Amino acid sequence: MLRFKVINSFGILYFTAVVILIYTHHISAWWLVLGGLLWVGMLAWGAFDIRLNIFVKAISSKRNERQKRIAITFDDGPTLFTPMVLELLSKYNAKATFFCIGNQVQQYPSILQQTLAEGHLIGNHTQTHTTRMGFLSADEVYQEIILAEQTIQNTTGIRPMWYRPPFGVTNPKIAKALSKTDYKIAGWNIRSLDTVIEKEQRIFERIKHKIKPGAIILLHDTTERSVQALELLLIELTKQGYEMVTLDELLNH
Ligand SMILES: [Zn+2]
Repeated sequence: MLRFKVINSFGILYFTAVVILIYTHHISAWWLVLGGLLWVGMLAWGAFDIRLNIFVKAISSKRNERQKRIAITFDDGPTLFTPMVLELLSKYNAKATFFCIGNQVQQYPSILQQTLAEGHLIGNHTQTHTTRMGFLSADEVYQEIILAEQTIQNTTGIRPMWYRPPFGVTNPKIAKALSKTDYKIAGWNIRSLDTVIEKEQRIFERIKHKIKPGAIILLHDTTERSVQALELLLIELTKQGYEMVTLDELLNH
């Protein structure tokens, strides 16, 4: 919320100054339009880029990490692709974090239980992952979070401590809902675009260029190509001597 307030304070100062200058120095009123566009633009950018921390304080990487450790995260499962992901993670001795959708958990409870049993970390990714998430009221967002929490807890006996906003979208209502919880909020600093890019090789290349200690990689356990890209990534990380750890391990929580 902090940066949101800073941006708004700057905006108010700017508009006050421009209005005064319009009256005293007859500057162009276009400065008001320009400022307005910038203000809206910055907030819109902040709503879609969780790394900016404009509305919520999300952890997008571990800064100044000295050890070759990296966190791979998977969103939107569990699905029928999750067992393949688990098999690869086990083959390459990797641990990961899964941000699960409550509805998916209800469909595949045993896959979630297996994920946990294999030493991975489970996070909350709302109950329905509705595409209307950015338009919900604070109460509705809160319900989404709590319902998913109960679903995960009923299935595994464990209450998730991490939350990742669907689509990485944040706004003042989502921030308000989260402020009523004690969730740690996870972002990412390597976005694979695996739901958009069709070739696994290209998904992998996109990640490969950005590999660095302390990074948080975003993938989805929802498609065949993500599974294939994961194997390429695990081979590369192993070759480079990386340890693949959960978010808790990476951040020493
Ligand atoms: Zn998602």
